[in-house]
Amino acid sequence: MSEVRVRFAPSPTGFLHIGSARTALFNWLFARHEHGKFFLRIEDTDMERSKQEFLEEIVSSLKWLGMDWDGNLVFQSKRTDFYKKHADNLIAKGLAYADDGAVRFRVPKSGKVGFEDLLHGRIEFDLEQHGSLAEDLVIFKSDGSPTYNFAVVCDDADMGITHVIRGDDHIMNTPKQVPLYEALGFRMPVFCHIPLILGSDRSRLSKRHGATAIREYKEQGFLPQALVNYLSLLGWSPGNNQEIIGREELIQKFDLNRVLKTGAIFGQDKLEWVNAQYVRKLTVPQLTDEVRPYLEKRGYAASDRVWLEKLVGLFHERIFMLAQFPDLAQFFFEDQISYGEEARAEFKKDPRLREAFLGYARLLETIEPFDVKDIEMKSRALMKELGMTGKEFIHPCRVALTGRTVSPGFFDTVALLGKTKCTSRLKQAAQVFSS
Ligand code: GLU
Repeated sequence: MSEVRVRFAPSPTGFLHIGSARTALFNWLFARHEHGKFFLRIEDTDMERSKQEFLEEIVSSLKWLGMDWDGNLVFQSKRTDFYKKHADNLIAKGLAYADDGAVRFRVPKSGKVGFEDLLHGRIEFDLEQHGSLAEDLVIFKSDGSPTYNFAVVCDDADMGITHVIRGDDHIMNTPKQVPLYEALGFRMPVFCHIPLILGSDRSRLSKRHGATAIREYKEQGFLPQALVNYLSLLGWSPGNNQEIIGREELIQKFDLNRVLKTGAIFGQDKLEWVNAQYVRKLTVPQLTDEVRPYLEKRGYAASDRVWLEKLVGLFHERIFMLAQFPDLAQFFFEDQISYGEEARAEFKKDPRLREAFLGYARLLETIEPFDVKDIEMKSRALMKELGMTGKEFIHPCRVALTGRTVSPGFFDTVALLGKTKCTSRLKQAAQVFSS
């Protein structure tokens, strides 16, 4: 077989949708698996709806996801003369004609138009039943711009595209494109229409279901390798129940023939789970680099790298999405914490706690260096002295220090919070008893 050449052809009329990203991914994986070429063509003939902002976002999202393309970007808006030449040819051959400033292509009026689809097999349309397909097709609009169906055929042929892999929503366009291939004398590519991504209610995934733009996922703190892993398994599988599959293995195993014919349902929980697996695979320094921008955005000081890495290490197993980190670690960054009703009630259950908090504050003040081993040893000695069990002592102290009932390991938390925050919070908690 000759070299595989595929393309992703977004229209810059919106941000990169998660469904389009998966179309791009399947094209990219197929090209890389086959040692072929993957091109990026910008379908920007709709001057009014196409925006530079969308173009930039699409390009940067593809880069972020790690989908590199071959050659330069192709812009349809710069190729009007090229399309015009083909339209004139059709007119000269009597296959198209001018109509009110537009150009129409003569299409067959009866019989069937069909094509072979790699996934769906033969797809045929009876022209008597599908009247709209029997109407002469506008290939140039009166404003002088080519229509989608015409430009796409000229470009796919010119770029030597061997496989057109695109969403199922284009199935009705293909029978309009097939007669154009024939009239222009172009070689027909292999068509492969992949099922759309559906929301949990089985309707096409849209804003209603939550975030749809790749950039929203990026902002929420999904890692690109996790999104690629998740999207690749949405409607495709390597043939086992494997759920975590890295880029190289994907390229090696990707097989277009194994794409499912029915729509795949998008599951946020599953995506979060996949993301958590990738977060765990990062080293602490890598994860620190990843969460840092989120901390800075929140206005949390993140300049002490050694301390920050220790902190990230404490939360490594608890982070599902990077954007959660500032919330998870909030009590490490804010000077003041407040105790809710629940915390207050918890403290007052045990009258010994007032003295315990004050005694603990005094003890922590004496520990120098503020080292976790020393803290643990001396804290346990204090519990013994106070006649309190670990549970009786540690749980309320955790609430006093963090304002929360769950936190990472207690002594690690104490050490990382530092002496000043710990002692002032313990004193603050002791005041609850006099209020
Ligand atoms: N510009 C079209 C779209 O964004 C591309 C369709 C195609 O791949 O032929 O849906």
